[in-house]
Amino acid sequence: MGGLMLDYILLNFLFILVGALSYFAFGLYKNKHSKLIIGVFSGVSVVFCMSFPFTVFPGYIYDLRIIPFLVALIYGGYGAGGLVAVTLLLYRLYLGGSGFIVTTLSYIPIFILVLVFLKLRKEGKQNVLFGMLFSLLSALIVSVWSSIQLQHDIDHHEIFFVYYCVILTVCSWITFFFIETMRDNIHMRDEIYRSEKLSVLGELAATIAHEIRNPITVSKGFLQLLKSRSQNETDLKYSLLALEEIDRAEAIISEYLMYAKPQAEKVEKIDVKAHLSNVISMTEPYVTSKGHIVDSQLEDLHVYGDSKKLTQVMINLIKNAAEAIEKNGKITIHAFSQNNYAVIEVMDTGIGMNEEQLQRLGNPFYSTKAKGTGLGLMVSYRIIEALGGTIRVQSKQGMGTKFSVLIPLEAEAKQ
Ligand code: ADP
Ligand code: MG
Repeated sequence: MGGLMLDYILLNFLFILVGALSYFAFGLYKNKHSKLIIGVFSGVSVVFCMSFPFTVFPGYIYDLRIIPFLVALIYGGYGAGGLVAVTLLLYRLYLGGSGFIVTTLSYIPIFILVLVFLKLRKEGKQNVLFGMLFSLLSALIVSVWSSIQLQHDIDHHEIFFVYYCVILTVCSWITFFFIETMRDNIHMRDEIYRSEKLSVLGELAATIAHEIRNPITVSKGFLQLLKSRSQNETDLKYSLLALEEIDRAEAIISEYLMYAKPQAEKVEKIDVKAHLSNVISMTEPYVTSKGHIVDSQLEDLHVYGDSKKLTQVMINLIKNAAEAIEKNGKITIHAFSQNNYAVIEVMDTGIGMNEEQLQRLGNPFYSTKAKGTGLGLMVSYRIIEALGGTIRVQSKQGMGTKFSVLIPLEAEAKQ
């Protein structure tokens, strides 16, 4: 080993980086079949790695195949991981030699261990550390099995396994670090793109609404004049109808203006419990008329912001929840504090959403309803973001949806 081994390590590393980075760089993780794609990409990386191994002991091959295997498992779940595992074992069987048993004994436990850990772990954080530790663990497992097998044939093999563990750990650290950095960057770019689109839209809406408001006010004045001078029943009826419609148009415009106006916001102390109770009783007639029940559990909390806007967000979420339920269902509203955030959850037992729909949430004019505007969530996101908070969504098709609004408890200092 030595010079030649380094060549093969670098070659292996190249296969891994090209596979993993092209998957993330081309945004394939947003694809409908992202899990399959990462499985295939990693599988190809594994095959290439195994085709150019560093052969130190005859019959045994060592390479960096653990890394793409872990990439597939961590980012693609058991499906992608399973695909890679099967590819790996079949290819190992095809290559022949005495190492097949070591491979099987090592990779199946690793597969199970990683899956158990993935289940236990909550959020997709700390992938770098996670990937690195698992590479080290895998390298140790392989080393132990190999050592037991090699005992009979070869002396002084231990030093190789020390190298092997170190190299695998370092290479996997670099790989996962690159992947995570790239994912962060892509995420940030999407976020900027979205907020830019929103602010353009907001300004446009405000301008149009404002320009339309003036002619409407003038027309309304003249219509009132006509009404007061109407000669007969029909005239009166028509002018009343016209006035009603104009009022409706005005209401819509005011609503849009409220959405679009980020400036001149009032900042006041909001008693979340009282506020939510108020909103719930406001929306109760609407919700119960559809046959749903509302259940709430509210803790005493205070946040700072514009209470009218918060009302708007809550009405939006509750209305969406009620509209998502087909037959008699339940809407549950919780408010509690967690890690310096006030958390308000609105859960429904409705139709839920799939991955693609979840991705599109909050985009202007995205609506699946015949009479929907597709503005409710966009505006809600904006309002909560302006408070320094976020909205998270969890949903399962056919089961229901949970919207969690997080607002910082100490927002006053920021304002
Ligand atoms: P609108 O209600 O006018 O359609 P929104 O911005 O409020 O606009 O919502 C956008 C879309 O998001 C809805 O059309 C619906 O498809 C989806 N959606 C929102 N909330 C829920 C929910 N609680 N359950 C299922 N789908 C939802
Ligand atoms: Mg809505």
